[in-house]
Amino acid sequence: MPSFRLAGGVMHAEAVPLTTIAEATGTPTYVYSAQTLRLSARRFRDALGGIPHKHLAFAVKANPNCAVLRVLAEEGYGADIVSGGELAAALDAGMNAHDIVFSGTGKTRRELQAALDAGVGQFNLELEAEGEMLAQLAAERGYCAPATLRVNPDVDAATHAKITTGRASSKFGIPINDAPTIYDRLATLPGLQLRGLAVHIGSQILDLAPLQAAYERVGALLAGLRKRGHVLTHVDLGGGLGVAYRKGQCDADIAAYGAMVAHVTKDWDVSLTFEPGRFIAAAAGILLTRVLWVKPGPAHPFVIVDAAMNDLMRPALYDAWHEFSAVRPNGSQMIADIVGPVCETGDTFARDRHIDQLSPGDLAFFHTVGAYGATMASTYNCRALAAEVLVDGDRFAVVADRLDQAAFARQHFAPWQRSGLSSAKMREEMED
Ligand SMILES: *Cc1c(COP(=O)(O)O)cnc(C)c1O
Repeated sequence: MPSFRLAGGVMHAEAVPLTTIAEATGTPTYVYSAQTLRLSARRFRDALGGIPHKHLAFAVKANPNCAVLRVLAEEGYGADIVSGGELAAALDAGMNAHDIVFSGTGKTRRELQAALDAGVGQFNLELEAEGEMLAQLAAERGYCAPATLRVNPDVDAATHAKITTGRASSKFGIPINDAPTIYDRLATLPGLQLRGLAVHIGSQILDLAPLQAAYERVGALLAGLRKRGHVLTHVDLGGGLGVAYRKGQCDADIAAYGAMVAHVTKDWDVSLTFEPGRFIAAAAGILLTRVLWVKPGPAHPFVIVDAAMNDLMRPALYDAWHEFSAVRPNGSQMIADIVGPVCETGDTFARDRHIDQLSPGDLAFFHTVGAYGATMASTYNCRALAAEVLVDGDRFAVVADRLDQAAFARQHFAPWQRSGLSSAKMREEMED
């Protein structure tokens, strides 16, 4: 994380002390580094230098913040979206509709219509009936929708079970053995310009072997479909490259990935699309939090911070590991469980962790939360949605407001309920 470092004893995001951000915005707050976003975006692009025709589409689900998307749009990235909401987010950020790929297992008719009307550049179809619906909607508009068939190659990505997507038993894509007949049928539909294949086998992949196996299967299918007379010009290789979450771990070897892709696809003669999410955004974000209490525990103390599982779900959801550091480390260490205020035992960020010595009131932060962090937040326990800040050099700005009482803003009493009465008063009246 070149952009998050100690200077004068205080952790900085680029040139801005995290203490300054905490004073300005309070905590918990996500802080993103524009510089790290750009560096990762360029690293990814550079590694694919050997690929002549390519399109890079950032997976918006990893981080849909408009300011983050804007930085990536300026780097020439389009978007991979999975909902109408993400379509709006990508367009809002200034991305070209033409550079948007629409993925996702459950696209609705309305979402398909909105994407057609916006002029989305590619639809990745997940089932035959979806292709039929898209073809019909496009034909009604006198249009021919550019599409690929997402296949499920039945390869295990060797990652966490909840983020593997390329096994036959997972809901994603068309079983690779069924693809030729479905491709034959969809290719005849007016309204559909079926132009290739898509694959995405999972996330946080560090070992390239499963990716290579999946791509080779797609290559064999590509050749088979051409033998059947189809013209394929596009293949979407998805995302999935992993990053280092723990000290001592390494990011996926992006240079080796680029070389592997160049090798596997050298005779494909197609334009390749890539959909990196985590690899671009994860290291660009931290979650700034304040220690509320340090509570004695049976073996070690509990460090209770003001961030909770509703702000950062990954540890509760995936047993994910996030490094945790003091903003002003004093050189001492402690062993602690790091927990949040939510009333769930699952609201535990780390157990028996060696961390910087912390006391109530101290600032600290979780590392590597720029992907699948803020976007998974909820208002569980009627908590606020955390603020988000973008840093660029010595500038910083709030790019998502803290939303207090977000849970109530959208609630209403039913018309037959007597609003305005406190529940205590209601009970009193009932007892009368
Ligand atoms: C989630 C997803 C991605 C991004 O995955 P990362 O692991 O974040 O790179 C890309 N494509 C599709 C279809 C996805 O579902």
